[in-house]
Amino acid sequence: MTAQLINGNLLSQTIRADVAKRAAALTARGRQPGLAVVLVGDNPASQVYVRNKVKACEDNGLHSVMEKYDGDMTEAALLARIDALNKDPKIHGILVQLPLPAHIDAHKVIEAIAPEKDVDGFHVSNAGLLMTGQPLFRPCTPYGVMKMLESIDYPVRGANAVVVGASNIVGKPQAMLLLQAGATVTICNSKTRDLGAHTRRADILVVATGKRNLVTADMVKPGAVVIDVGMNRDDNGKLCGDVDFEKTKEVAGWITPVPGGVGPMTITMLLVNTIEAAERT
Ligand code: NAP
Repeated sequence: MTAQLINGNLLSQTIRADVAKRAAALTARGRQPGLAVVLVGDNPASQVYVRNKVKACEDNGLHSVMEKYDGDMTEAALLARIDALNKDPKIHGILVQLPLPAHIDAHKVIEAIAPEKDVDGFHVSNAGLLMTGQPLFRPCTPYGVMKMLESIDYPVRGANAVVVGASNIVGKPQAMLLLQAGATVTICNSKTRDLGAHTRRADILVVATGKRNLVTADMVKPGAVVIDVGMNRDDNGKLCGDVDFEKTKEVAGWITPVPGGVGPMTITMLLVNTIEAAERT
């Protein structure tokens, strides 16, 4: 059996067309949605991510501001910038690109973002709202995964979902969203004993660990939906996920590629969250 591909680029195009329409409608009412992206330091991967985010805003009619600071910026100076962005009526979403330099307390910075502008959904108040079933912002990557499941009309309700990875930005919110959609959810982490015993029971398997080839074909239930969030480099420097794609696509029912799977969806859902924030003002 060869799995059907869930193409994140294609799905993104459809969602971004709707984003552009909503952005134009808001702009016509004098409320162009605006996103501020804040980057501290010169991490090369972060620079690529923020450029892509700003470009996606420009391409779809959102206003965007990119604030780039040297790696020796003080925590106080960064907090002052966040405070200014919180008060800026042209800005509906604030994203601080992680990781921050070690001398800055990332937790403190995220908590300084006004929850109603926290388009990443990382603020504890947004994490709490998600946990209690009234999400204001859904973190972009898990939100994108849910849209992928929706795009194939997958019956999440009652399905066994296994999330491998338990970070605050992907694994945990992913598990919450799946749970709210009616799945029976298992969360695995690096201490999980016999990972394969869990993954083999999954109708929906979401893998977000940053460990190349952690999930192999023998760990996947035939016909399952396999969503690979991982972003790693192979020995030739090529982008790859956490799942052994070539062999797993012969077992799974649906699978996401890397690149071209979850990655583009994450940026798309950031645009959606920014639109939602602007629509609420
Ligand atoms: P993270 O904060 O490093 O968390 C990794 C999680 O994986 C942890 O919960 C860890 O368990 C778990 N883990 C590690 N080794 C494992 C193993 N052998 N078996 C089971 N679980 C294991 O990473 P993250 O920020 O969630 O990101 C995960 C991956 O997704 C990375 O490759 C990242 O680049 C990628 N990512 C992609 C996108 C996208 O848009 N495509 C967005 C965000 C992240 P412990 O809790 O026990 O440490």
